[in-house]
Amino acid sequence: MEQTLREQLVEYGNKLVASGLVQGTWGNLSVRLDDKYMLTTPSGLDYTRLTADDMVKVEIATLKYEGSLKPTSEKGLHAAIYQSRPDVGSVIHTHSKYACVFAAAQKDMPVVREHRETLGQELKLAKYALPGTKALMKNTAEALGENAGAIMANHGMVAVGKDLANAFEICEKIEENGRIYLLTK
Ligand code: 13P
Ligand code: ZN
Repeated sequence: MEQTLREQLVEYGNKLVASGLVQGTWGNLSVRLDDKYMLTTPSGLDYTRLTADDMVKVEIATLKYEGSLKPTSEKGLHAAIYQSRPDVGSVIHTHSKYACVFAAAQKDMPVVREHRETLGQELKLAKYALPGTKALMKNTAEALGENAGAIMANHGMVAVGKDLANAFEICEKIEENGRIYLLTK
């Protein structure tokens, strides 16, 4: 189970790079391992070079972690989402292009009709806070609410799903939605 999830994190990190949704070492991914722990990508390392062993096991309630690699600097955000959303099994944070357009404009992202079933009516904008801070964690969890994703002001976005495949699909839909919305405006 844990090994499979570690391998999936490698796989989806590579998929995010291949699809252009993350660049370099930006962004981060996690999965819920069980009631107590999550597995996250390590901080600041290139996705294409990560192995299953590099993924970091982090205690959700305390953010204590095991091993020599540091977990993502956004571990607090991932943990806050697992605590407030029992339905969520995976969290992905990206600085993807269209999410960043709305993030820079500091606007909620309206959802076009064909994506409303998966994304809801709109993706809310979380107020700006410095990356890796408690304020960012609070603002983003608040903007996410019960939705599938949120825009993070001057930063990027967060997407959630029942598993990694689902969270990845939400990332792709958010980008596609942002693109279509802007093209049809
Ligand atoms: P990490 O490399 O620590 O995951 O940080 C990337 C990022 O996007 C911070 O907001
Ligand atoms: Zn970021």
